[in-house]
Order: sequence, then structure tokens, then C-alpha cells
Amino acid sequence: MDKNMRNDLVKLSAAQMAEKFKAGEVSSRELVDAHAEVIEAAEPAINAFLKLSFDQAREQADAIDAKRAAGEELASLAGVPIAIKDMIVTKGIETTAASKILEGWVPPYDATVITRLKKAGLPILGKTNLDEFAQGSSTEHSAYGNTQNPWDTDRVPGGSGGGSAAAVAAFEAPLALGTDTGGSIRQPGAFTGTVGVKPTYGGVSRFGAIAMASSLDQIGPVSRTVLDSALLQETIGGHDPHDSTSLPGSAPAMVAAAREGAKRDLKGLKVGLIKELSGEGFQEGVSKRFNEAVEHLTAMGAEVVEISLPNLKYALGAYYIIMPSEVSSNLARYDGMRYGLRVMPPEGVPATAANMMAYTREAGFGDEVKRRIILGTYALSAGYYDAWYGSAQKVRTLIIEDFKKAFEKVDVLACPTSPSTAFKFGEKTKDPLAMYLDDIATIPANLAGVPAISVPAGVSDDGMPVGFQFIAPQTRDDVLYKPAAALEAALEEQWNGPVWQWMNTPWLGE
Ligand code: GLN
Repeated sequence: MDKNMRNDLVKLSAAQMAEKFKAGEVSSRELVDAHAEVIEAAEPAINAFLKLSFDQAREQADAIDAKRAAGEELASLAGVPIAIKDMIVTKGIETTAASKILEGWVPPYDATVITRLKKAGLPILGKTNLDEFAQGSSTEHSAYGNTQNPWDTDRVPGGSGGGSAAAVAAFEAPLALGTDTGGSIRQPGAFTGTVGVKPTYGGVSRFGAIAMASSLDQIGPVSRTVLDSALLQETIGGHDPHDSTSLPGSAPAMVAAAREGAKRDLKGLKVGLIKELSGEGFQEGVSKRFNEAVEHLTAMGAEVVEISLPNLKYALGAYYIIMPSEVSSNLARYDGMRYGLRVMPPEGVPATAANMMAYTREAGFGDEVKRRIILGTYALSAGYYDAWYGSAQKVRTLIIEDFKKAFEKVDVLACPTSPSTAFKFGEKTKDPLAMYLDDIATIPANLAGVPAISVPAGVSDDGMPVGFQFIAPQTRDDVLYKPAAALEAALEEQWNGPVWQWMNTPWLGE
């Protein structure tokens, strides 16, 4: 394909690609081929993917092209390719969660979200990199190497879903899926200038999402525009009988809300700026961009007030007890018996089942995963359970109540997505606490089960993107999309184009 034509094509939004596909101006096969070319050119520098599945993608593309040719009814994102975080199982495509312990495991079934994507005609380009079992904030804990931030390859793309965010930022894919347990969709979104959404807990099926911490995990969209995330969330959302925590009913009307937001009229909307998640501890460049974005909201007619959620100061502490407790329980299944790696004890050590499991887990898990299994096992152990896990659960209830009270006063909450922009490789790997602190603004939404979105809010003094986060009441994901789309439109007008105009893309040959 001609290089300029290809570059123009991959820089379109998913909504624009879908329109062109429906109008017969581009085939799904061409869309897959264009992205495959960009992936091949970008991967040596970015390493966003663990596994490519171009053969399957081309088959899917040909099938949807045939449907279009036959005049069949098409879903809203039909024909548009997508990348999938390797925390989500895909039939026939190796799925490892970036862990050695699952190396070589080819799932015999699809996650519900994958089934829905296939039905809607979205070809799957491949599986993206992450921190092992989604545990981390930089993708440096992957067992298969780092993913580089397309904005600056000396910096991390965030985590755990660094691969999905980097792929979308680098134009390797217009859309991706992520999983968000404490910020793994939103923080990489902020670090790479992309949009990332954590839906309401139960709003998108978790069937086939590899479990990290089941009471917090949520699958959600990654894209370059707010409308694209709305389209994707409507495609994958709604009740699923295979997931006992799935909410009844269909997904809320997010696409309509995003389109409404693009009109940039926010009269009647009350926005609460979270007092505990601003100012001290947040980089100056981040606060500056955040405050400018707030001015846009006011100019569009929104009423902006400051609001306090006093128990948020305990959120990080509660999360780092509840999450590892669930991790220690969920990861007990990787025992060398059923899937992936098996390491037999060396000669001289009895070849018992218990020894085999111990040697397998020692060899198969990385340090960060082991740290969390140990923390969680301790927090759940007899004699300590009430003091640690029990107290953390009580704090969680107080946080849920804080959100309920806040939403009696305002429609939507706002804060920066992350206290900093993307940091350099190695900056935080020696200090787990510093890494954990990066999640301070994203974790509360997971603990409360409420939906949240991160939208690009420009670049900081260091030339790196900043994320603006909106948080809405449970099941009201639509409420996120209107102000998010309005802010996106206002900023685009201010800068005369999207945020990625400030990113260099040498892999596109430009
Ligand atoms: N960074 C957080 C953690 O390490 C969030 C992870 C996630 O959302 N999967 O726990």
C-alpha cells in the first residue's frame, strides 16, 4: 500500500474507519493489512504485542467484507481491527498474561467480549503486553520484555495495560481492550495520550478475563477518541449469563452521550473536583493542564465545585490489602497440573505433587507476583484476617459511602488520572511503594465499583501527555461520555487538532 495512503488510513478514528468501510471506500482486509504494516514497522521500537494473529485477522476481515458485499446488516464498528490485552482469553491464540507460568497455553474458548467482537465483525490483530498478571504500573513486570512509550521510548507506557495503550497511541491499532483492577486501562491512557475507560463493575462481562482480583477487575475500551470508546463499550457491554457478577440489562446509551458532548454544551452539569486528589503530590505540569481543562468545562456551562471524599486517603492502603488477598487466592490455580508450565523437582528431591507445584511456582512467577501472593496470604491468615483483610473491607465500605454522598451533590467527579506523566524505565522498579503510589487517583473507582474515563488533556512541560479523569455513579457510564467528549472537542479546537500531533512517529516513515 502507498505509504501516505496507509498513514492517512491508520490515523483515522475507529468511527471514521467504520464509516468508510460501510460506504465501500475501504475493505476490512485493507484495514487489517495497513495496520499489519504499521505493526511490523513499529514493533522493533515499541514492542506492544506479545503475539500477532494476522492470519485469523485476515480470515475475519474477509468474512465481514463478504457480509458487506451481500448487503447484510452491519454492527457499528464492523470491519475495524482491534488489539487485545493478553489478560483476556482468545480461542486458538496463545494467552499468557505475560507470565512464564502460562507460556504455551492456547485457550480452548473465547472470553465473552471476544465472542461479541467477532460477532460484530472486528478482526483481532494480536495480543498486547502487560505487567505479569496485570500487576504493575509500568509494564516492566512483563516476563517478555518492556513496552516502550511511543511518545518517548526511554519512558514507560504505564501499566499494567501498557501494550494496549502503546499500540493504539502508535497507530498499530485503532482500538484495544484492556483490564482495569486499580487503573490499568486509565493510567496507561494518561501516559500515552489515549482514551481509556473502566466501566461500572459488572457492566462488561468478565467471563474469560484472567482473574487478578475478582471484586475489582473490569474489562474496558482503549481508543484515540471518546466516541470510539463509547462505540466499543456498547459493542462489548450488557448482561452475560456466563458471569455471575454481570449486571442485568443492556449497556447504557454511551454513543448518544458522546455525540451530545461533542456539541460542547454542558449547561446543567455539576462537576465535583475531588479535593483529596489534587495539589500536593501531583506534578506541577499535570496540575496546570488539569486546571486549564477545568476552565474549559466552566466555559461550556458546567458548574464546577470542590468536593471532599475524606476516606480516599485510605484507599491505596485498603487496595493493597484487598487486591493481594484476592490475587493469592486466584493465582492458586497455577499449580503445574492444569495449564502452562510444569517443573519437576530436581534429582534427590522427592517427585511429589507438592514439590512439583512448589518448583513450578518458583520458576513460573516473577518477583512482583510472588510479593503479592505472600502479602495476600499473610493478610488472609488465621489470626491476622480480621486485623488486615477485615479492616480493609470496612474502609472499602466507607469509600463507597463517600462516593454515594458525593453523587448526591454533583453529577460527575473529576481529578487528574495520574499524579505524574510517564516516568523513565527503572525509575520505580527498585521501590515497590513508589510504584504503588502511582495508582492513588485510579484505585478509588475500582474499590467503589463506579465507572471512570481518562481523556488526554494536553502535554506537560516534559513533552509527555497528561490524563484528565471523570468518575460517574454506578451504572451511569453514559454520564462519563458527555463531558469527556465535550472536553476533547474544546481542547481540539484550542490546539487545532488532536493531542497526538505533538508525537513523533518515525516508524510511519514520516
Ligand atoms: N497498578 C495497579 C496494580 O499494580 C493496577 C493494576 C491493574 O489495574 N490491573 O495493582
